[in-house]
Amino acid sequence: MNAITIDGPAASGKSSVGFEVARRLDFLFFDTGILYRAVTWAVLQQGIDVADIEAVGQVAERTRIDITAPESQQRDGRQVTVTVDDKDVTWAVRTPRVDQNVSTVAANRLVRQTLGVQQRRIGLRHGSGAGGKAGVVMMGRDIGTVILPEAPLKIYLDAPVDERARRRGQELAARGRETDIARILEDMRRRDEVDSGRAIAPLRPADDAHLIQTFGLSIPQVVEKIVLLAQTHLELGQARPLDLTAPQEGTGALQE
Ligand code: C5P
Repeated sequence: MNAITIDGPAASGKSSVGFEVARRLDFLFFDTGILYRAVTWAVLQQGIDVADIEAVGQVAERTRIDITAPESQQRDGRQVTVTVDDKDVTWAVRTPRVDQNVSTVAANRLVRQTLGVQQRRIGLRHGSGAGGKAGVVMMGRDIGTVILPEAPLKIYLDAPVDERARRRGQELAARGRETDIARILEDMRRRDEVDSGRAIAPLRPADDAHLIQTFGLSIPQVVEKIVLLAQTHLELGQARPLDLTAPQEGTGALQE
């Protein structure tokens, strides 16, 4: 099975690193946090209380979330396009309001049940090569521990919380949004606490995960470490592990 799981806390570098690893190996890029964000966005949009287990669980069941490669006209820095019931919510799922509520939604057992089944199905299909890609890179919190524990290569990325808050602030500023670092830091601490302390599928490294501290490392340096590990842990066959060409847009996005 050609599957790489990348878990870790918010803004530890999972998406940027995972996107580039997927491009280099011609693997599917699947950032599972998007699913929890999309359900959270739908819950808030419908005015539902995020703490209402049953009502939020139903939203997860009935919401149609699609993640596709961006169209050529959508060059606004997005890695993928996210739609909820056909509405483009790519940036709407990245607002501070979603950030503040997503951990509560993600701790809901009904939500995890619904989204977990979908994630595992997609992971197994693309990990076996049946989805048209050479493998899959899946990012999240519990991918190595719960969703795809049989993956042959598991990574856990980490960085100090103030560094992660600084990175998130930079990301928001690049999109022209107001950034209050103290507020971001506070939200991130709270989110880490809920994600690590919840009863079901808490954030933690799998026993056999490779731990990588990303503080002080560039994205290409982290990518290089993972690509090297992939060469020894996976059956790469036709993949392009040493492709050093410039990133291309729109490759490797999740297309179910
Ligand atoms: O990775 P990202 O920050 O986009 O994830 C948003 C939230 O979704 C996390 O804070 C966490 O609560 C939840 N999540 C999860 N399990 C995953 C991926 C994300 O609980 N596999």
